Amino acid sequence: MTHVFHRSPKNPLPLAVKGAGAYITDETGKRYIDACGGAAVSCIGHGDVRVLEAVQRQMSEISYAHTSFFTSAAAEALADHLCAASPVPLDKVYLVGSGSEAVEAAIKMARQYHLERGEASRKLVISRHQSYHGNTLGALSVGGNPPRRKPYGPFLLEEPKIEPCFAYRYAKEGESAEDYALRAANLLEGKILELGPENVVAFLAETVVGATAGAVAAEAGYFRRVREICDRYGVLLILDEVMCGSGRTGTFLACEEENVTPDILTLAKGLGGGYQPIAAVMCTANVYDTIVNGSGGFVHGHTYSAHPLACAAALAVQKIIRDDDLLANVRARGAQLQERLQARFGNHPHVGDVRGRGLLQAIELVEHRDAKTPFSPERRIGAAIKKEAMAAGLMVYPGAGTIDGVSGDHVLLAPPYNVDAETIDLIVDRLGLAVDAALARQG
Ligand code: PMP
Repeated sequence: MTHVFHRSPKNPLPLAVKGAGAYITDETGKRYIDACGGAAVSCIGHGDVRVLEAVQRQMSEISYAHTSFFTSAAAEALADHLCAASPVPLDKVYLVGSGSEAVEAAIKMARQYHLERGEASRKLVISRHQSYHGNTLGALSVGGNPPRRKPYGPFLLEEPKIEPCFAYRYAKEGESAEDYALRAANLLEGKILELGPENVVAFLAETVVGATAGAVAAEAGYFRRVREICDRYGVLLILDEVMCGSGRTGTFLACEEENVTPDILTLAKGLGGGYQPIAAVMCTANVYDTIVNGSGGFVHGHTYSAHPLACAAALAVQKIIRDDDLLANVRARGAQLQERLQARFGNHPHVGDVRGRGLLQAIELVEHRDAKTPFSPERRIGAAIKKEAMAAGLMVYPGAGTIDGVSGDHVLLAPPYNVDAETIDLIVDRLGLAVDAALARQG
């Protein structure tokens, strides 16, 4: 008998008692390689005493001070660190408690920006199918994950969506990567013109798509074209880097590789590495000045905004990433992971695609490799692989294959940035066995 809602007879869940490095141990003593950081969160692994010490120190000074009364040294230092680490000119940081909160704040910030400029007619946020931006109602409204939206449809706003830049699924036979990138980006211009630019607040996209489609990076040039289109029509560009930011793809921000500066950007999972719940909205000086020189401040706020303990933990995590030179390891181990996945699954009859960037990698499962036919959603193949993997002592993050019949199930891998080469090999070996065992069990 349990009173915990997330545990049920259908979903009994082992009880985690210890985290150390890339491993979580349950109460029976069984060890699991945390190859997905939970939901791409645990970026420096578990149990780093440097974070523990930073949080203890902060707690002995001050644990909580509401942001309508005070700022804190922890919040100031974290914001300074993030702006200094950002190679693109993002100048101000609004700190909240989760990725969904960050997305909600980002879209409200964009709306207020236009209001301050006297453009009150701008009310629509264009986003993309096969995306995930969070589970709160505003974030679900701009998200493109039908199964997560379905039960709450009547609560949601029908925000406009375009097709993502997802070459495996949408590039045409014989189309060059460059042509496809432009064609995919131009869908945004078509949508803006259809809606009327005077009605559009922002375009919102994950720089590398995480939970819904599984580690999908856009083709080179896509986001540069998107930036041009946004500028042409006065539409703000919001990049959601809740999952792919904070170093996950091998650069501090994933948009560095796209050579693009958004107006607003969200960070969360790898920001605090799971040591505390924390997320950030970064914005340009232009967005900030327009709001602050307008009605005076952002009409928003949460009780736990910029929580000092969370800020202290996140700052410690970010300093560890810098001081231990972990982004170099993300790039090296990411290349190894990609290579090992290709070797193991490149010719697998039920793996259609191996893809990703840095230590955000995925395999997409298909019924028929040549036709790229997804498995029927009822087979819950991703969930079956997760179950086999857990039995084998491996944590992987599955995505359900119910995306309007277009894209299949995938399994996402997001090991810690300090993972070693041996562990990468072990992850791929265990994943290979889990995939084959799940398929064999289903017959
Ligand atoms: N945006 C993206 C890109 C995400 O991957 C997620 C979480 N999977 C969210 C937003 C929502 O974050 P949270 O679960 O912390 O609310």
